[in-house]
Amino acid sequence: MPEFKTVRGMRDFLPEEAHVMRYVEAKEREIAQLYGFKEIMTPIVESYELLSAKSGEEIRSRMFVFKDLGGRDVALRPEFTASVARLVATTFRNEPKPFRLFSFGSIYRYDEPQKGRYREIYQSNYELMGSSMPEADAEILMLTDSLMKSVGLKKCAFKIGHVGILKSILDQEKVGNKAQNAAMQLMDKKQYDNALQAIKKAEASEKCIEILRKLVELKGTKTVEIINKVKELVGYYPKSIESAQNLSEIISLVCAAKGKMNITVDAGFARGLEYYTGMIFEVYVPDLEIALAGGGRYDKLIELFGGAQTPAVGVAHGIDRIILAMQGQKTAVASREEKTAMVIPIQDEVKGEALRISETLRGQHIRVEVEVSGRKIANALENANRRKLDYAIIVGERELKDGAVVLRNLASREQNIVKIENLASIIRNAEMHSD
Ligand code: AMP
Repeated sequence: MPEFKTVRGMRDFLPEEAHVMRYVEAKEREIAQLYGFKEIMTPIVESYELLSAKSGEEIRSRMFVFKDLGGRDVALRPEFTASVARLVATTFRNEPKPFRLFSFGSIYRYDEPQKGRYREIYQSNYELMGSSMPEADAEILMLTDSLMKSVGLKKCAFKIGHVGILKSILDQEKVGNKAQNAAMQLMDKKQYDNALQAIKKAEASEKCIEILRKLVELKGTKTVEIINKVKELVGYYPKSIESAQNLSEIISLVCAAKGKMNITVDAGFARGLEYYTGMIFEVYVPDLEIALAGGGRYDKLIELFGGAQTPAVGVAHGIDRIILAMQGQKTAVASREEKTAMVIPIQDEVKGEALRISETLRGQHIRVEVEVSGRKIANALENANRRKLDYAIIVGERELKDGAVVLRNLASREQNIVKIENLASIIRNAEMHSD
């Protein structure tokens, strides 16, 4: 037999890792509730047509695509947004707006595996649909900041841009959509010279190229100053000025709500997904070069899927990278506080009674394992010790006659005879007084 391994780019989450994952998931869910986002669950497998419609070449080329047995072209979702947009364009069509929708789960991308880059990726996704106002954009930035803080991350930095600044220039210059997308993809990879070449080829004016060359250099944390410089530079393109103004309104709302935040405005910032139409952003922490979260505004997507005109803004938090950042900053994760007890019957005759006691305790919310390997008491205790359980509940005929069992603290090795009806409260009290 070959030695089986996980498929390249896929990972197992062992108990400690799964615990951290679920801890972050719980924080994400709490944020969703606090901001009024309702959870939805959409399928991991969707039609290739839906997923490829507007995700962009970059992601399209890295999708896990296959034919199902019915001959349909399907793919594993490389993001949540297309599925949520499908739902809003169809089932939710007549529901009152805005929608605040939250999803948590795995997405799949054929990325080159390395630290912080996997092929099965856990994301927490928030979409606010039905508002084009800057306060909606601000809300997505605010909840992202709240989440980062709630998992204990410090020094989070937001990099923010606005695709409208660049796209409006290209629209006015009559650069076609295909060339625009290609140029944005190149900018996303910071290949500015190549991007400008592509735009030149699409017959944009010399003046436009000159402005773009200066534009992509405009970035910094003095957000008001940078945005003013952008407005000056793009003066010949009114829609581009509007986009810069929109960005400045969003940032001033976020700052009004949150006080001081670490924000860098980057006028040449582009993101891989094609569907963005407005503000875009990513979140970073020092010492980790990859983004922990990314999002932005996409006002045309719902229409593209046959729905009513529905402006929308959203974000995906990359849980795997948030966990890496937490490890890097040594943030504390709440431990599993509750103790676990192992019930060990000493004689075959009391097995049923041992099972009954374990059920009673579970009914009282005590975590209980039963010795199921037929080990004798000494071996069973050693095994429970090695597996770091907290208590042994030893069930024997002698004590049972008095409605009692032996409760042993495995760490201190202290043991006492305890009435069965008192077991739960004793264990719970000990939990409260330990640590
Ligand atoms: P995107 O959907 O591309 O905006 O990605 C949102 C977030 O998902 C990123 O900021 C990352 O934190 C995370 N992410 C995307 N791709 C990967 C990957 N291959 N491995 C781990 N995390 C990823």
